[in-house]
Amino acid sequence: MTVLGITEHRRGDLRDVSFELATVGRELADATDSELHLAVVGGEVEAFADDLDREGVDVVHTVDEGEEFNHDVYVQAVEALHDDLDPDVLLMPHSVNGLDYAPAVASRLSLPFVTDAIGVHRDDGLAVTREMYGSKVETVVDVDADRVALTVRPGEWPPVEGTGDADVSAFEVDVDESQVRSTVTGFEEVGGGDVDITDADVLVSVGRGIEEEENLALIEALADTLGATLSSSRPIVDNGWLPKNRQVGQSGKVVTPEVYIAIGISGAVQHVAGMKGAETIVAINDDPSAPIYDLADYGIVDDLFDVVPALIEEFGGEPPEV
Ligand SMILES: Cc1cc2nc3c(=O)[nH]c(=O)nc-3n(C[C@H](O)[C@H](O)[C@H](O)COP(=O)(O)OP(=O)(O)OC[C@H]3O[C@@H](n4cnc5c(N)ncnc54)[C@H](O)[C@@H]3O)c2cc1C
Repeated sequence: MTVLGITEHRRGDLRDVSFELATVGRELADATDSELHLAVVGGEVEAFADDLDREGVDVVHTVDEGEEFNHDVYVQAVEALHDDLDPDVLLMPHSVNGLDYAPAVASRLSLPFVTDAIGVHRDDGLAVTREMYGSKVETVVDVDADRVALTVRPGEWPPVEGTGDADVSAFEVDVDESQVRSTVTGFEEVGGGDVDITDADVLVSVGRGIEEEENLALIEALADTLGATLSSSRPIVDNGWLPKNRQVGQSGKVVTPEVYIAIGISGAVQHVAGMKGAETIVAINDDPSAPIYDLADYGIVDDLFDVVPALIEEFGGEPPEV
């Protein structure tokens, strides 16, 4: 049996979800002594193949078709790979791109389709954990079929690390150009700025406790002093104080930094959905019963307007007047 994962890249870089997908793919493959195959479609296929040769990956298939993501090419390529390899589990990222082609592939292949998996368990059959009702409830979907397509939520599994000894195989797809009905003509960052908070090792995140837009200067100063990236909870974005690409959470981005400093953030489930995978969580909140303290590794129960200037000074910076 085979587990097949479709990796993702953007503008010359493999996305982290590719390596996370390799982890969940290995987990599924181990349960039935199967092989794990990864595929990369388009772009710098040779360089990607080297990078995808990670521990636990048996075969990397390179499909040299186009540079950037294209819905029609991906649908045809993934369908052809599926026809050839006949995997029992087809894994795709639950990302903007993944959600663009995965439903079409599942439909064309008549595969049962489970989206946004945050956990998988394989014993006699396959059980997939999902979240519902704004992350308030977890459900387990039992898949009663021999073949299935899944999308995997980014940030839920650790990325596979060590170098492996995968076979690399060029996969030829006879793309039907008459069915390629769109082309990528350029890129425009939505939400302002070129900061990708999902890449940051240290995130300083600010919430409604900051009270006023002018007070953000204090949090920015802490981020600068620590060499960290600034992110936020949703109210800060809804107020227009920071662009959407800084929002952490269910309707924002899922982040997995080494350190996440939550300042004046209560820890609502929709926020936690985006940051619970951080290695170390530090909370600064004057309410000791704030839910953020249920998952924080370290907490400072005090007024942020006293704590943050003290931290800036401690780390050699100069706190601004707010
Ligand atoms: C469908 C849906 C999707 C959503 N998606 C997201 C999402 O992606 N991301 C997200 O963040 N939210 C999201 N939300 C909103 C979420 O439910 C919460 O409303 C939001 O996370 C709360 O943000 P907050 O913690 O900054 O504010 P609050 O909940 O108001 O918390 C502010 C905290 O600051 C503390 N505080 C106040 N003053 C101080 C002070 N001086 N010093 C120290 N602490 C202080 C308070 O004790 C409080 O705990 C979503 C909601 C829905 C319905």
